Amino acid sequence: MAALCPSCHKPAGPRPGNKSAPFCSPRCRQVDLGRWLGEEYRVPDRPLDAEPEQPRPASAPAQDEDGR
Ligand SMILES: [Zn+2]
Repeated sequence: MAALCPSCHKPAGPRPGNKSAPFCSPRCRQVDLGRWLGEEYRVPDRPLDAEPEQPRPASAPAQDEDGR
């Protein structure tokens, strides 16, 4: 059974002979790992202690009070 490298989709050798299994090479392993970390770090960190912006009612009627 030939496992395919998750990174480049080439046949990757089994573990005893292939230290980077299930990847075909250490490089592919790094690539996949980097992709993983990249996606994690891509999560935008927003300040938790920032006050949530209050949505203003768009249908707020402009009150025109004419003086009598
Ligand atoms: Zn590969």
